[in-house]
Amino acid sequence: MKIAFFSTKSYDRESFNQFLPGSGHHISYFEVKLDKDTLSLAAGHEVVCSFVNDKIDAEILKELKKLEIKLIALRCAGYNQIDLNAAAEQEITVVRVPAYSPEAVAEHAFALILTLSRKTHKAYNRVRENNFSLDGLTGVNIHGKTIGVIGTGAIGRAFCRIAKGFGCQLIANDVYENEEMKTLGVTYHSLKKVLSRSDIVSLHCPLTPETHHMINAETISQMKDGVALINTSRGALVDTKAVIKALKTGKIGYLGIDVYEQEEHIFFKNLSEEIMQDEEISRLMTFPNVLITGHQAFLTKEALEQISKITLSNISDFEKGLKLKNEIKAT
Ligand code: NAD
Repeated sequence: MKIAFFSTKSYDRESFNQFLPGSGHHISYFEVKLDKDTLSLAAGHEVVCSFVNDKIDAEILKELKKLEIKLIALRCAGYNQIDLNAAAEQEITVVRVPAYSPEAVAEHAFALILTLSRKTHKAYNRVRENNFSLDGLTGVNIHGKTIGVIGTGAIGRAFCRIAKGFGCQLIANDVYENEEMKTLGVTYHSLKKVLSRSDIVSLHCPLTPETHHMINAETISQMKDGVALINTSRGALVDTKAVIKALKTGKIGYLGIDVYEQEEHIFFKNLSEEIMQDEEISRLMTFPNVLITGHQAFLTKEALEQISKITLSNISDFEKGLKLKNEIKAT
């Protein structure tokens, strides 16, 4: 099939090109993201392949239908960026990569926790300037802490397995309780109870209308003083303004985020020569106890390989008219 590939980065191209020979597909790589100004590039293709910040709304879907696009292959797990009702109306099938390497994201969440709790981000800079003073580098142990995990799907479960190895107590909130997690010693509670008992809260649920701003002024007030908040899921799970207020008062002791509410205007771009226009991310960067990474939790060699293989096999299954195990539909 002819695939129009949007938001291409060099690592996407390298990884997909490894698996393309023999697949029977052809990919046109476009660096631009998919939007109303760029969608015409999809003309002459049958499939659009897009990533997390390609917002695919009803208007774009209507135009893609006119271009005879039959399939949208999301090369990511989350699908909050696409209007599935509108896709169904336009009779465009949507597939995704539900789990490529949950460990990649879970390990990154732990990288954020470990960096912030042991201040290695500060130590790295200090030592490079021959400053070997330890003042201000006192950390906290992870061992023995209570971690609240919101969402025990593929990534949340991988996260719990790692946390168990650190000797943490694990409490969780999910709409479904998972038996493997219960055997591991994870106990399930209401969101309020999880937030009120956790030293560290790590978010691993999808962004939906129900979970939008689930971390807000009210839910932050239910948390322990000095709580650590880690978000590797989706930016809009968190009300950034409320989090900034809580960082200013010390209610939130540290914040590690790989995702950001307004990230679609900022992430995946080199803006080092530009004046940052986003006031909230600028404010977040002023806190010594905040660590931000630019949606890189998925970015491991192993995960990229899985993303490429599963995306190409989703497209092949669609071409052959096979049952699509990774299809997503409006509920
Ligand atoms: P998953 O579907 O396997 O798990 C999601 C879990 O959240 C499920 O167990 C589900 O029941 C639960 N859930 C749904 N609604 C909930 C609610 N209101 N409250 C509590 N729990 C709820 O998904 P996953 O593969 O574990 O991925 C989780 C999220 O991580 C994705 O939705 C995506 O947004 C994000 N993600 C981020 C990156 C990154 O690079 N930062 C990469 C992949 C995925």
